[in-house]
Amino acid sequence: MSEHRIAGGAGRVPIRPGLFEVPKGPGAEPYLIGTRCLDCGRSFFPRRARCAVCFSRSVVDGPLSRRGRIESATAVRQAPVEYRGDVPYALGLVRLPEGVLVHAPLTGKDPGGWQLEDEVELVIEPIHTQADGTEILAYKFRALAPALSGREDIR
Ligand SMILES: [Zn+2]
Repeated sequence: MSEHRIAGGAGRVPIRPGLFEVPKGPGAEPYLIGTRCLDCGRSFFPRRARCAVCFSRSVVDGPLSRRGRIESATAVRQAPVEYRGDVPYALGLVRLPEGVLVHAPLTGKDPGGWQLEDEVELVIEPIHTQADGTEILAYKFRALAPALSGREDIR
């Protein structure tokens, strides 16, 4: 007879519900959850109950593209009050193919080394572990090194 126990207490929790999908198995990819307007076609992040451009309520939520390009980046040397990660870090504005601009921390490169049009990919990472062992997850964008693109299967 086998007995399965579900681990209680510790787990992984998004920093805010409804922002992104956490990969649930091997091969699953994370994505940001956005809103697309069915009337004018614009997309938004975070999700909205109505279109910010034409105010239509005909909107649908769905996954946004995982890859985008850097529109601007800043090296942050003094952490905001609730930030628990390492300093310095880079904070970027990433343009996704849907036309959405997403503010997010950047990773995978020196904080001062970012350039316009650098290609990045969404990652979900723990940013803090609570006293009970629960990991708080947040989204970041990671550098896609030109020399490494197309070689992502190498471990
Ligand atoms: Zn609209």
